[in-house]
This record gives sequence, C-alpha cells and structure tokens, in this order.
Amino acid sequence: MNVETNIKDILLRIKAAAERTGREDHNIKLIAVSKNVSIAKIDEAYKLGQKAFGENRVQEWVQKHSLLPYDCEWHIIGRLQTNKIKYLTQQVTLIHSLDRFSLLEKLNSEGEKKQIVWPSLIQVNVAQDQGKAGLGMEEVKDFLVSTKDYPYVSVSGLMTIGALEARPEETRFFFQQLRELRDNLKRQGVGEELKHLSMGMSQDYELAVEEGATIVRVGSKIFK
Ligand SMILES: *Cc1c(COP(=O)(O)O)cnc(C)c1O
Repeated sequence: MNVETNIKDILLRIKAAAERTGREDHNIKLIAVSKNVSIAKIDEAYKLGQKAFGENRVQEWVQKHSLLPYDCEWHIIGRLQTNKIKYLTQQVTLIHSLDRFSLLEKLNSEGEKKQIVWPSLIQVNVAQDQGKAGLGMEEVKDFLVSTKDYPYVSVSGLMTIGALEARPEETRFFFQQLRELRDNLKRQGVGEELKHLSMGMSQDYELAVEEGATIVRVGSKIFK
C-alpha cells in the first residue's frame, strides 16, 4: 500500500462511519500524523491534497515545517514542554494537548508577547490511566472556566488518546465519555465554544467518528 491508497481508503472509511451515524463527513477532519515521517513522504501526501499534519515534538516540527509548503496546517498533538513554547509561531493551527495550568500560563504569556491567540484543545485522560497525559474528567470544568481569564489561549474542544491496549467496546466507551463530557459542559453553560472532539487514531478512528469525532489523528495507517 502507498500513501495515496491509504489516504483514499481512510477517507472512504470516515465517510462510511459518518453515514452509519447520520453525520456529514465534511465536518470531520483527517490529520495525517507525520512524526518520524520524512519530508518527502509528507510532501507526497500534501500533493494528494492532504494539508493537515500532526507532530508531537516541537523540535521536529521546527525542522520540518519550514521545508514544506506554507499552506500546510500544523497540529501539535504531543505533550508540550513549557520550555518549547518559545518555538511556536502562528503557523501552528491547533494545539491538541493543553493539559495543565502551567502550560496555560506559559502559552498565554508567549501569546501576549507574539500577539498570537493559540487555538487549543483540552486533553482529557478518559481512561484515567496512571501517569498518562491529560486532565481527569472531573478537572475539566474548572480548568475550562479558568482558561477564560487567559485571552491568548482559545479553547475550541476536547482531545483524548483513549487507551492503547483497550478492546473495541472499551474504546467506544472512552470516546462516549469524552462526548458526554462535552455535552454536559455545554448544558451547564460553560462549553458553548467546544466545537471539536479530537479522538481516534489508526486503530480506532472509525469508532471515533461513530462516536462524534470532528478530528481524527491517523499516522501509521497512512505512512507505513
Ligand atoms: C502518534 C500519535 C497518533 C497517531 O497514531 P497512529 O496509531 O500511528 O495512527 C495520534 N495521536 C497522538 C497524540 C499521537 O502521538
């Protein structure tokens, strides 16, 4: 399989999963996760019309993005160390991994300095895995409310990684948890801006679409 076949197959599967649940697939964005992927391969995907890419290390993103067309969309999907924030620019389309207060503060001060408002998603640890990145479900509401005091960070949704070893029924449950959390926050009047659910990777993106994902992050199924 090559990149072209892979992308076409994934887009068809996204469409089918959306249709199964009465959704429109144009509301669902495929991010090609390009960590550890060469410039040549990324460029191949770009030439096929895939413009959104995801990187999980800032250093790698800094080196790669300047060698690729300016209209690529770049998504930062990995744990973001505060000492790397200074390398971020307005070429970052969306930060998926806002997961702690210190990061919120640092992003805000860097945003103020550069006059950039960072579009961001709050990362949630739905599986409640010890040591895994993301806020606990019960912490999200207070955190979301506090982001409103930080004008250079703009939250537009929630992100989760699910559980890597989970069986499909478990994975579905985790994705449902994220969607219900979003819906509850909206009902409570604190989450009207939560448009996005970033969930689903190579193993489970179809499930994620069935459960309401607006963004899926697929790496190995595209590039391997
Ligand atoms: C690597 C990665 C992905 C893509 O994983 P695949 O299994 O290769 O599709 C998605 N999200 C995050 C946060 C990642 O680090």
